[in-house]
Formats: sequence, structure tokens, C-alpha cells
Amino acid sequence: METSTRILVVEDSKFFSNIVKKSVIERTGATVVTALSLAETKAAVERADAPFNLALVDVILPDCQEGEAIDWLLKQGVPCIVFTGVFSDDLRERLLAQNVIDYVVKGNPSSLEHLMRLVERIHRNRDTKILVVDDSKTARHYLVDLLTSYQFQVVTAENGREGLAALDADPGIRMVITDYHMPEMDGVEMVKRIRQNYDQDRLAIIGISSGGGNALSARFIKFGANDYINKPFLREEFFCRVTQNIQMLELVQRLSDMATKDALTGIHNRRFLFEAGESLFANAKRSHLTLTAAMLDVDFFKKVNDTYGHDGGDVVLKRVAARLRSQCRQTDIVARFGGEEFAILSVNMDADSIEPFFESLRKAIEDEVISLGLQRIKVTASFGVCATTGTNLAEMLKTADEMLYRAKANGRNRVEIAGLADPTLQTTAAS
Ligand code: GH3
Ligand code: MG
Ligand code: MG
Repeated sequence: METSTRILVVEDSKFFSNIVKKSVIERTGATVVTALSLAETKAAVERADAPFNLALVDVILPDCQEGEAIDWLLKQGVPCIVFTGVFSDDLRERLLAQNVIDYVVKGNPSSLEHLMRLVERIHRNRDTKILVVDDSKTARHYLVDLLTSYQFQVVTAENGREGLAALDADPGIRMVITDYHMPEMDGVEMVKRIRQNYDQDRLAIIGISSGGGNALSARFIKFGANDYINKPFLREEFFCRVTQNIQMLELVQRLSDMATKDALTGIHNRRFLFEAGESLFANAKRSHLTLTAAMLDVDFFKKVNDTYGHDGGDVVLKRVAARLRSQCRQTDIVARFGGEEFAILSVNMDADSIEPFFESLRKAIEDEVISLGLQRIKVTASFGVCATTGTNLAEMLKTADEMLYRAKANGRNRVEIAGLADPTLQTTAAS
């Protein structure tokens, strides 16, 4: 996340305020400012260089008895989550009639946890983009305001045809909320077409309409919507449904990550390397693009473990993985092959840039200073590269591995390349 979230905690009990502040920082890394009264709230907002993304607000404060701080913050455009000791139906209705995101009743042991989950949820929403499709300007604005107050990124379209175009233009969209009746292309037709390209577990769709009755909700769902909301709806219900659908996407993502990512380093695992690598290989062949395969292995890694312990070794592996990932292109596959061995598959690399590229990777690892507690250490790695697109992926990785073995034998911390135009092996090494 580029900019840090700024959260204002308005609570007159210093004790509770500190607990909330500490938990929020721990769980979101947000910047937290506290205020003990309405007057301090006003001062904090007016003094701030950047607007607050969220406020957690107590209803009763020394200088306001009926939630005036909430009214005031909402007027300033600060989304609020209310936490309160007292809660009457009257107050609940009054709060929800305003734009508060949600409310949490203080005083039982689980309420702090509930509040924190809500804050984490809102915080994560900042990374999630939602497309709103509705021909009515008023309806569109209403949904955009709601979603923005939950911190989502929002884009809009005015009909189904525009909606499809918006989706194609922005692969970052994770959810579509759509009206039914629209000119040019209605919501159900749009859902039908979206589902030809986007799975239900990658992109969630919620249909919204008034007056369509059950038949319309059934049609939306049948053609691939994940959920349906009837208008008029309660904001509480809207928030819950959007949240649940987003959580479902996150769950599917987590499961998929567990299968394809390495748990220690967070980069792809060996299984993904072979699965995605095969299609990368096939695509490259079909499009007559070159494919480059590299294997690398950290030098004398056993010594790192022996000197700094297994946990120290783990930190080194994470740093090496992160360095490789950041130096490679987004389209390259960077995977942990096992232990302290990594593999890189790169499409369409210019023949002239292969050697300098892997040499710069080698250098980047050599130069990286890794802190282990008070110690600062450095490691090196040996690289084997197969620079000719072979007949299959396994063969290329095998060649890369042979070159890696040669790099080790020739003194480590070096790059050995096979299969460049010049059939003799290319070698570079640190001085
Ligand atoms: P060389 O320069 O020849 O590659 O020597 P090396 O010591 O790096 O190679 P070796 O294969 O002898 O040792 C690799 C070590 O990596 C042994 C193993 O215990 C350790 N290792 C494997 N996986 C992990 C891991 O996930 N975490 C840590 N900390 N160590 C690991
Ligand atoms: Mg090694
Ligand atoms: Mg090894």
C-alpha cells in the first residue's frame, strides 16, 4: 500500500483509547491519532495535513452527550465506526440513518476483537476495486459514496456494454455491482457475457434492482451473479453482503496461494513452476519467442544455518527471494525450487541482455546487506542459465542445473550460461 491509512480514535477513557490505538497499529500498521473529546476531535481534524480515512468514535464524550462528534466527523467526510456503551434502538436507527459504517457495542470481552476485525476489513478494502454499473446517476452516486466510505476503490459504468469495456480495461476489478434495467445492455445480459471470461471465484458479481421480484434475482443468480440485493436495501445489509462476497474471494485466493506459493518466501513454489512453466513454454514456442531458464543456489548456505541458526537461514532465504522477485519482470516466473535453490523462467529476453541481466542479479545478491538481529551479513549465489529454448521445459531446467553445477565447481558466486549463439560456454564471475 502506497500511503498509510490514517485513523482517528475518539474515546474519553484513556485506558480504552490506548488499548484500541495499540491494537489498530498492531493489526493494520495505520497511523493513529487519538482525541478525548469533541473539541479535541475538531482540533485533530483541522490540524491534520491529510484527511483521516476512518474514525472510531464513542457516542458519549465529556463535551457531547448524543453523538455530536459522529455528526461532525461525517459532515467533514470522515467515515465512522461507532463504538458505544449504551445502545438503544432509537440510537441505532439514528446512527444508521446517517452514514456510519457500522457500530460495535462496548463492554463484552469480544467487542474489541469485533471492532478490530472491522477495522482490518476496512483497511484491506483499500486494495480492492469494485465496478458499479447503473444508468441512474443518483443510484450510481449513492453506491459510490457507500463503497468509498468502506474504503473500496470504485470505478463506474452507465450500462452493460460500458461495464464490459471497463472490466476489460482494468484487470484489477474484483467485484461488479450492477443494476438490471439499463439501455444498450441490461444487467443480466452483461453478467452472462462476463462469465464467459471471468470465474465466479475470481470476480464476484452482485445484482441490484427494484421491482424485479424473485424472478429477477433468480435470473441474475442463474446467469452467474454471486448474490442479489433488492432495492430499497438497508445499508447494514448492503455492507454485510459486499463484505461476505469479498471474503469469499479472499478465501479462494488464500487456498490458491497455499497450493502455488512457497510458505516461507511467498514466491511461487516448484509445483507452480512446472504448471505455469509448461504453458509459458508452449506460448513461447507458438509465438516464436525465446525462453530463458535459470537455476541458482545460495553458496555455502549450510554455513549460514550453522552460524546463525535455522531461523537466521530462513531470513536469508526470504531476502534472496524478495530480491530476485523485485529484480525480475512481472511476467517472469520466479520460484523456490527447494531448499536454497531458486528457478527463473523469462520470456522474450534479448540475447544480448541475458548475460548482463543474470550478472546484475548475481551482483544484487552479493551486495545485499541482511540484518540478523545485531549481525549484518552478506551471501552470494551461483547461477546456471540455459539460454536456448529447448524441446521441453524439463530439458532446459536440466541444462540450467548442469551450468549451476559448473558455476559451483568453478568457484561459486558466478554465472555460467549455455546455449548462446556462440556454442562455447559463457562465464562471468566476481573479481
Ligand atoms: P553450496 O555452496 O555447495 O551450495 O553449499 P551449501 O552449504 O549451500 O549447500 P548444501 O546443499 O550442502 O546445504 C544446503 C542447506 O540448506 C542444507 C539445508 O539444511 C538447508 N536448508 C534447506 N531448506 C532450508 C530452509 O527452508 N531453511 C533453512 N534455514 N535452511 C534450509
Ligand atoms: Mg547452496
Ligand atoms: Mg543446494
